[in-house]
Amino acid sequence: MAEQHGTPTAGRPRGRSAVAVPELVERARSGDPRSVARLISLVEDASPLLREVMAALAPYAGNAITVGITGAPGVGKSTSTNALVTELRKSGKRVGVLAVDPSSPFSGGALLGDRIRMGDHATDKDVYIRSMASRGHLGGLGWSTPQAVRVLDAAGCDVILVETVGVGQSEVDIAGLADTTLVLLAPGMGDGIQAAKAGILEIGDLYVINKADRDGANAVRRDLRNALALAQREEDAWRPPILMTTAANGEGVAEVVTEMERHADWLRASGELARRRARRARDEIEAIALTTLRERWSSLGSHESLAGLAVRVAEGTTDPYAAADELLDTVVT
Ligand code: GDP
Repeated sequence: MAEQHGTPTAGRPRGRSAVAVPELVERARSGDPRSVARLISLVEDASPLLREVMAALAPYAGNAITVGITGAPGVGKSTSTNALVTELRKSGKRVGVLAVDPSSPFSGGALLGDRIRMGDHATDKDVYIRSMASRGHLGGLGWSTPQAVRVLDAAGCDVILVETVGVGQSEVDIAGLADTTLVLLAPGMGDGIQAAKAGILEIGDLYVINKADRDGANAVRRDLRNALALAQREEDAWRPPILMTTAANGEGVAEVVTEMERHADWLRASGELARRRARRARDEIEAIALTTLRERWSSLGSHESLAGLAVRVAEGTTDPYAAADELLDTVVT
């Protein structure tokens, strides 16, 4: 993160007019797609302006329901996301889509790619689509995703779909940033057993078996139902439904939206929404604080720096605990 600090427009053409943050936020709130895109670019670039952006957005956050869509590559995540957007638009919902690639260190914002990916919605002004790399240096999806979610939320999205793309993704991480986690499975991928391995039996609020048009979909449902039946749940806990879709032609997708809404109602009524959001904010604060600490000690002089301390520990002139104390003493003011 340190290398991006102080270079707010890294990787972008020079000479773009500097827009004042309050104006940008105001325009984004009124639904101007360029301003929304610009704010998400600031998130991606880890711009020093983010502090001001987040402060300006804070009063407008919390209206959107964030739905994380996870599942192994090839199960139909992007097809399903597209179909869900179509369904949500039928009821006039404003929808944000974030396609997050935790395995990529590269900046997303590939507008052309996004347009191709979500061709059906490219011209709909009430649908914001953005792919982004996740820069979480602390593993997982980092804090760029929650910040981008906040931008879309403040821009008036009712629902934000967060889809993980790419291989080697952490399926479980997404549960940490969504209000509702939708786990997608499909026949022909050995899901029954893989599901248990990946720990997705614990994270799903909704389970969707896609490719219901293929042989084996019912078997996947049976295996999943059996596996979920073994899970211990409290009396008044949410019982994750298992749904079947053929995302390719939209079959079953309306039911998924109905269940998403039912889950959102349950989250609000049970108090779980507030709990999940507080947990998320906690992780975000921690990630920002740890990043700040790292930035501070990477800007230290050679003797007090991590590298300097490391040499002393390796030489045996100090021990790792004392060195860690010294490092923290130097950077915590
Ligand atoms: P992702 O990697 O999880 O995002 O999966 P994609 O959405 O890219 O879909 C992977 C492949 O499965 C593509 O070739 C899709 O056309 C196909 N696919 C998606 N949904 C369905 C479906 O409901 N039925 C069938 N038969 N194929 C599907």
